[in-house]
Amino acid sequence: MSLKFNDHLLPTLPIMECLPLDRIIGITSTIPIEVVFAAGYIPIDLNNIFVCDRLSYKMVEDAESAGLPRNTCAWIKGVHSAVWKFHIRKVISVVQGDCSNNEALMEIFQSDGVETIPFAYPHSKADRAFLHDQLLKLAVCLGVDYARAEEMKRRLDSVRAKIHEIDRLTWMDNLVTGEENHIWTVSASDLMGDYTVFDERAARFLQIAQGRTPISHDLRIGVIGIPAICEDLYSFLTSLGVHVVFNEIQRQFSMPYQTKTLVEQYSRYTYPYDVFSRVEDIQEALRLRNVNGLIHYVQSFCHRHIHDRVIRKYIHLPILTLDCDRPGPLDGAMKTRIEAFIEMMRHNAVMT
Ligand code: SF4
Repeated sequence: MSLKFNDHLLPTLPIMECLPLDRIIGITSTIPIEVVFAAGYIPIDLNNIFVCDRLSYKMVEDAESAGLPRNTCAWIKGVHSAVWKFHIRKVISVVQGDCSNNEALMEIFQSDGVETIPFAYPHSKADRAFLHDQLLKLAVCLGVDYARAEEMKRRLDSVRAKIHEIDRLTWMDNLVTGEENHIWTVSASDLMGDYTVFDERAARFLQIAQGRTPISHDLRIGVIGIPAICEDLYSFLTSLGVHVVFNEIQRQFSMPYQTKTLVEQYSRYTYPYDVFSRVEDIQEALRLRNVNGLIHYVQSFCHRHIHDRVIRKYIHLPILTLDCDRPGPLDGAMKTRIEAFIEMMRHNAVMT
């Protein structure tokens, strides 16, 4: 696939076969990895190892052969196959704040003997007592003192600061491509299982990016919604002369706000909460980033597609809603829709 996670400039996917199996904890969504690292475990985002797998398309088919319905989102199917392919024995399951498909997947894992550890985001981000309680429970379950997780937050803050700088270099200085931005920010969910290596690579990337010639594409767009499963969205946009300066949910994975505690950090993270927190964050980012239009990526069979109506109500920019099912390249119809959208934006830009 075109996402070059193993490019020498980008974060490296862990070599799963080389990791101690008993220390791996699979995650299906962004969770407080500070607790996992502090407890001496290795968090591995199952979405990343699925979508970067050479056989990701087949992993979706394998899950269907194993009985998952065809009309279930492909991320769920990929995560299901990733657990079996890499012999993951322990998974942290988000039982509130992600999706019911994910909850059902956890029940499949339980029935198949995979240990699942529940974690719930509160229904409202204002319910900090609930979130604090969940963080404490997770720490107890993993056998670590909660104070050590807070210490780990401070260590990870300095790693995440580098991702925030990579993001700034994308939209402010135009030195980082939208695809590189996507890869760095999407990798923040688990810091590729090793925050020290991640930190070193991010520092090296920043040094190299700062010496580049700025990108001079005439159109700037944002990509909102969950990370796209298709492999060539960014390279196709680049071929059309478009600079992607905002990756909404991936940026959220990097915990973009300055916070003092884990409770504050995970209550400001917008993904698990209502769409209005997301809209606020998107509006704020658009004010800064000088964006001509948005692609709203929606995953086939995902309930989040319904949010499109709310997003269109509050975000007053041209928006293309792009729906995709499986891993692989964009198909002809998707490319035509993107080309027409970009053409329309270019026409608007000339007229204003
Ligand atoms: S894309 Fe939607 S349905 Fe699929 S795992 Fe994510 S939230 Fe759930």
